[in-house]
Amino acid sequence: MAIERTLSIIKPDGVQKNLIGEVYRRFEAGGLKIVAARMTHLSPADAGAFYAVHRERPFYNDLVAYMTSGPVMVSVLEGEGAILKHREIMGATDPKKADPGTIRADFADSIEENVVHGSDGADTARQEIAFFFAGTDICPRTR
Ligand code: ATP
Ligand code: MG
Repeated sequence: MAIERTLSIIKPDGVQKNLIGEVYRRFEAGGLKIVAARMTHLSPADAGAFYAVHRERPFYNDLVAYMTSGPVMVSVLEGEGAILKHREIMGATDPKKADPGTIRADFADSIEENVVHGSDGADTARQEIAFFFAGTDICPRTR
């Protein structure tokens, strides 16, 4: 499998619960490497644009309010098959359906407040990484 990059967000509930270290620990234990990271507090315009694919969904306004309710950690993760691996570590969107031992099963309160975001494919990963990071922000591992 190819080396991929994917965009990861620890959402406001995850930051509030002080889970940054625990979430990163799980990514690193799963073989993913953090190659860029920063904390930011999204504006409604940013959150709305990031989740524009969901703009016709009934939960869109609540999703934007949630994503702007506190700071988030945005990161780029790199590794073999990183896009799928990251989503496996996160678990299903709805924590009630997420496999035991996944981040969402262990820590998420609801289908909306579900601690983490991960890109869902190669095209979205490229777009989402470019949404938050310039090429020069990404630090390839040289050792
Ligand atoms: P994400 O894109 O955040 O990684 P996902 O790909 O698992 O999550 P999507 O279907 O893309 O799920 O939904 C994006 C986000 O919108 C979800 O993570 C969740 O916060 C929220 N969401 C999704 N479905 C619902 C729903 N039925 N009710 C409320 N919020 C929802
Ligand atoms: Mg999604």
